[in-house]
Amino acid sequence: MIEKLVRKNVLDFQPYLPGKPIEEVKREFGLARVDKLASNENPLGPSPRAVSAMKKVLNRVNLYPDGSGFYLKKVLARKLKVKPENIILGSGTDEIIEIIGKTFLDPIDEIIVSKHAFIRYEMAGELMGCQVKRVPMENFTHDLKAMKKAITERTKIVFIANPNNPTGTYITEEEVEKFMNDLPEEIIVVFDEAYREYVTRKDYPKTLSYVKQGRVVIVLRTFSKIYGLAGLRIGYGIGKSELIGFMERIRPPFNTNSLAQIAALASLSDETHLKRSRKLIGNERKYLEENLEKMNIKFVPSVANHILLKVGNGQNVFEKLLKKGIIVRAMVEYDLPEFIRVTIGLPQQNRRFINALKEVMDRCS
Ligand SMILES: *Cc1c(COP(=O)(O)O)cnc(C)c1O
Repeated sequence: MIEKLVRKNVLDFQPYLPGKPIEEVKREFGLARVDKLASNENPLGPSPRAVSAMKKVLNRVNLYPDGSGFYLKKVLARKLKVKPENIILGSGTDEIIEIIGKTFLDPIDEIIVSKHAFIRYEMAGELMGCQVKRVPMENFTHDLKAMKKAITERTKIVFIANPNNPTGTYITEEEVEKFMNDLPEEIIVVFDEAYREYVTRKDYPKTLSYVKQGRVVIVLRTFSKIYGLAGLRIGYGIGKSELIGFMERIRPPFNTNSLAQIAALASLSDETHLKRSRKLIGNERKYLEENLEKMNIKFVPSVANHILLKVGNGQNVFEKLLKKGIIVRAMVEYDLPEFIRVTIGLPQQNRRFINALKEVMDRCS
């Protein structure tokens, strides 16, 4: 009976599976130490500047936040050389992905995603009742040529994760330029750059230039990853002011909270924390990749803070690691059942992970 009350798209909807929380795993397996390498968080934590900025305003949380995010938008706009009207703030970029769906997608529309790309894009499409076209990847990387070929007159949005989660791969400036060149004007292209601050490659694309040229492009960025503020939920989108204006119409009025806004602002001023985080992940990525090679475990070379590795039965290896107090992610919902994704952690965490993986793989083979 209740089913009759629920929208059809919701009845068919598969919920997102988040990484397991540390406390739950401790309880379930009676473990004293659990390392979570499951959700691509920054193991160094937030910037100390963010923490002290928040402490100063804790006794003012009785007040509603500034719904417009005036100061944060102003500072971001200056940094990115755009106008505040080009920016929308969200409770994580996750919310902005949903707002994009609600603003632009009718059930007759179609969206294009890459097959093993971040799953929240197709979820936004499905929630709105759209067709979702999943285009196969090439070498675990978005195949922009094939994605462009997949465009029909019903295509409304193309989503591109760069670097992608869970594969950790990226697409170059040249590939993006070829894609954008002669793309039908009215197709919205969303570039999700949640991990951009980790990328040190010179050929990483400058997608903001498309926004500045007036193309219908939305660039997504977040404070959840390198800035270490995932628990506060704050991210932003940058686009042509007309596009952003329509998204602002339906944005919940107080979607980003006051602590998140304050912490984000303070984080932007802490270059040192950013550099330290990038350096740690770079060094540790090398450590992990070298050890995986020694163990003859195949992995996808990553430019981000996570690595996709081929372990045979991903779910099985995930469960065995869990019992040893290490939380990674199985990749079943990404249609990669032979893989797990591990987030690059602190040196000691990565060593624990490699040792545990050795034990698990030895027993499996
Ligand atoms: C983590 C992630 C996000 C979203 O993070 P928020 O916490 O919602 O800002 C967006 N895109 C990709 C590809 C991610 O991996």
